[in-house]
Amino acid sequence: MKRLIPLILSTLAVPAAAQTQATPVAPASPRPAPRLVVAISVDQFSADLFAQYRNRYTDGLARLLGGAVFPSGYQSHAATETCPGHSTILTGNRPANTGIIANNWIDQRAGRPDKVVYCSEDERVAGSTHDSYTVSDIHLKVPTLGERMKAADPRSRVVSVAGKDRAAVMMGGHKADELWWWDGKTYVSYAGRAVPPVVQRTRDAVAALVARPQAALPLPGWCRGLDRPINVGGYTVGQGRFARDADDLRGFRASPAADAAVLAMAAGLIQDMRLGAGLATDLIAIGLSATDYVGHSFGTQGTEMCIQQAELDRAIGGFLDVLDASGVDYQLVLTADHGAHDMTERQVERAMPMETHIDPQANAKRVGAAIGRDLGIAGPVLLGSEGDIYLDRALTAAQRSRVLAEAVRRYAALPQVAAAYTAAQVAATPMPTSPPETWTLLERARASYDAERSGDLLVLLKPRVTTIERPGPGYVETHGSPWDYDRRVPILFWRKGRTGFEQPLSVETVDIVPTLGAVLGLRTPGVDGRCLDLDPGPADTCKF
Ligand SMILES: [Zn+2]
Repeated sequence: MKRLIPLILSTLAVPAAAQTQATPVAPASPRPAPRLVVAISVDQFSADLFAQYRNRYTDGLARLLGGAVFPSGYQSHAATETCPGHSTILTGNRPANTGIIANNWIDQRAGRPDKVVYCSEDERVAGSTHDSYTVSDIHLKVPTLGERMKAADPRSRVVSVAGKDRAAVMMGGHKADELWWWDGKTYVSYAGRAVPPVVQRTRDAVAALVARPQAALPLPGWCRGLDRPINVGGYTVGQGRFARDADDLRGFRASPAADAAVLAMAAGLIQDMRLGAGLATDLIAIGLSATDYVGHSFGTQGTEMCIQQAELDRAIGGFLDVLDASGVDYQLVLTADHGAHDMTERQVERAMPMETHIDPQANAKRVGAAIGRDLGIAGPVLLGSEGDIYLDRALTAAQRSRVLAEAVRRYAALPQVAAAYTAAQVAATPMPTSPPETWTLLERARASYDAERSGDLLVLLKPRVTTIERPGPGYVETHGSPWDYDRRVPILFWRKGRTGFEQPLSVETVDIVPTLGAVLGLRTPGVDGRCLDLDPGPADTCKF
């Protein structure tokens, strides 16, 4: 217990070692099902970041490196954002089937003035907007693994906790027993849910932490090579160590302490609910969001991300200590919702001339206005900004086809644009079945396509063109592209006593559910993924 970080200690009611050991059900076969599934998503944990730091981990992530390591997992779809990515991890389905095509999309039929719909909101609730929303699971069209486990045995319990509502909802699904997320101020759930004591303790511990100024975190020796200032739009990043003033909630969110708090709450819920010691296998999903906020705020190649990686490793180690002390046989998987690459300014300094910000001329509002002027059509003509672009529903059928043809022509002529596809083109593309790194752009777009929610036009930018027009504090780097730096993420499986191995060939995050299903002896029909054999020997995980 000594290694546990203070936040975990202060949040747990009883040290795990002092608790009664769980009583595992007597194994009926040489390969009994685990009693608990632990699924961790590290937001924006790209395969490149994993490759950069994997030899530096000494704690929790180092342990996972001794399991089944898939360094080239793919969030295979085009729209590599947080909500679509999380929707694939525990459903086994690509966004084309989960319905979660983006973090936000436009629904011109929405019965409110704001036609932008957020992925995990219920836009039917009076007074809500896409940025002041009521959290909901209504947009997720398929069941999660937790729901499948509950359908097979209603005694299974499902818990989901995360630093973002969209991570908690997309991994927890529709029937979670406990579902908690950070709302910018504290941890909350759906209206009317009772607050478990450990959630209240986490709230109190974090409130006390945020109320005090925080000293800089130590810089590991191996981070020193990254310690240099980079000027981004008039201010400097690259040398941060997470010192912050009292009451800096945004600073807390983009710091290692935010992940430690979510892990502490998860550990406490496992203890208090005695997850893994019930009558059926339980599941906990954990969304760690700080890596994403650190990346967006500071990029991936400064001291900030280096410290974040060291602290993430340590916090996961502390969490695994609690799990071990419980005596529960757990199957763990860790992956990410998407990747990322470093920000423009540092790339330019390192002489990578392809790197650039999006030209404002590519914004749909400008393109739409120009088309409207030339064709003599009033109104916005095009809705959206980049990516999925929508034709104004007020257009007549004749106007629609003229506007669409003109928009494709204009976008295709822009130097930063890789492709401009109509919805009909994407819809006519078969869902790809080959390895994800071989997919065409159109096939990547197909895996993100939903007939009701996708744009009438999809615009994809060339590699290394960032959608950030002008960087600002907290937003210097982003992701969301169809390119592999945003698609590739690690997938790590770990279970006590299992022999580890590494499989370098590409796999997909949608493979996680059929694989965990096989480990649990649970059939998972209707998924896009395939079962991965986690056994390096002659036995085959997938034959059950
Ligand atoms: Zn994300």
